[in-house]
Amino acid sequence: MNDIGNSPSARDIESIIHPYTNLDVHRTKGPMIIDRGKGVMVWDDEGNEYIEGMAGLWCASFGFGEEALIDAAVEQMRKLPFYHQFGHKSSMPSIELAEKLLAIAPKGMSKVFFANSGSEANDSQVKLQWYVNNALGRPEKKKILSRIKGYHGVTIASASLTGLPANHAEFDLPIANIGHVDMAYPYRGMEPGETEEEYSTRLAELLEQRILEEGPETVAAFIAEPVCGAGGVLVPPAGYFPKIQAVLKKYDIMMIADEVICGFGRTGNMWGCETYDIEPDSVSCAKQLSSAYLPISGVMVNDRIHDAMIEQSKKIGTFAHGFTYSAHPVCAAVAVRTLELMEERRILEHVREVMPVMQRRLRKLGDHPLVGDVRGVGLVGAVELVADKATKRAFDPKKMVGANCSEFAVRHGLITRAMTDSLGFCPPLVITEAEINEMFDRFEKALDDTEHWVT
Ligand code: PLP
Repeated sequence: MNDIGNSPSARDIESIIHPYTNLDVHRTKGPMIIDRGKGVMVWDDEGNEYIEGMAGLWCASFGFGEEALIDAAVEQMRKLPFYHQFGHKSSMPSIELAEKLLAIAPKGMSKVFFANSGSEANDSQVKLQWYVNNALGRPEKKKILSRIKGYHGVTIASASLTGLPANHAEFDLPIANIGHVDMAYPYRGMEPGETEEEYSTRLAELLEQRILEEGPETVAAFIAEPVCGAGGVLVPPAGYFPKIQAVLKKYDIMMIADEVICGFGRTGNMWGCETYDIEPDSVSCAKQLSSAYLPISGVMVNDRIHDAMIEQSKKIGTFAHGFTYSAHPVCAAVAVRTLELMEERRILEHVREVMPVMQRRLRKLGDHPLVGDVRGVGLVGAVELVADKATKRAFDPKKMVGANCSEFAVRHGLITRAMTDSLGFCPPLVITEAEINEMFDRFEKALDDTEHWVT
């Protein structure tokens, strides 16, 4: 093999199937190989520096190279590198993590089940709804309503919950008993002259209509991200969740909060549920739980769900669900240390201090000729690029304007995320004011490049 044939890029192309990648394009384009990271910065294998404007995949809350987390992993690895939770077994990191999580959890959460990813957490949520409604003596109450554009993962049930066409097309999804309702998407969903409150009322009425069409006795739960992330960072309009929850309560339908992105400070509170007045029956969390240094997720449930699970266990003889790596001690130890660091370093206070800078710089992008909408909260946000600001006309999808804009950003040393023509920002929570300004300075250059390229 010659040198080019043996390059890391060629070896990657020869051997790896990349998630969320156009596999055909990858054969010629190849990978961007990230070699190391420190703070909010990462470097590729040619030494180029980037601000990681997405904290990886909305997850590396403490940035890269946080020694306290590395130490926690090494220490636990030496002491007990693996143990499991099957058949009454436990380990100290999982006990500590469960206690810590429940102490800060949204109101009403009383127990936690550990898994390894957001997808596994949400798949478990679906199974729990089925299991629990059987225990509650209402076996017909099995449907779960999710939202178009919502993102909940890629395993069979969680991909079914996800409301993005590419996750269903040709995978023969969604499975039965999963339905999708409208997303709260003020920029494209609000009618002229409508206030946010009125829009929220209309969405709640539409949800009620749908529940009545399905038959309320068949609908078990509604799942939503407090702020929809991968669907384009869609921030709910005023009053949305209280109005939605009033409908759910009326028909005894459970509320599942998918806090996989919002959890642990992203919106300026510990949970998106606090920011948006959500009172969940169960919560999925992952990503920032361990600053993404190791994979771990959790499903927290209230007593009503847990009591029903106990009844099933009594009847069947076991709770026959769980993963080899549920509450993996090394992952749990890193998660415990992450939660400790959040307190020790006053991360919530820090987020509240710098988030006005982030939101101000984001809003300023609204003056740019390509930017139709700007939205965000806390340390997460997006701009939506449009062909015509007055009419909100979108670009021809074939032009891949968002993807090209994100390529221009890379040239200016910034990693952001294109979700169709919305560009997302979700930096590590430890980002400083100066780094936020630098991130947007770089992005403004990318926007100008995009404008020259597209016109
Ligand atoms: N839920 C939300 C809100 C997410 O954003 C994601 C991933 O981005 C998931 C679930 C799935 O998580 P994972 O990729 O860890 O399976």
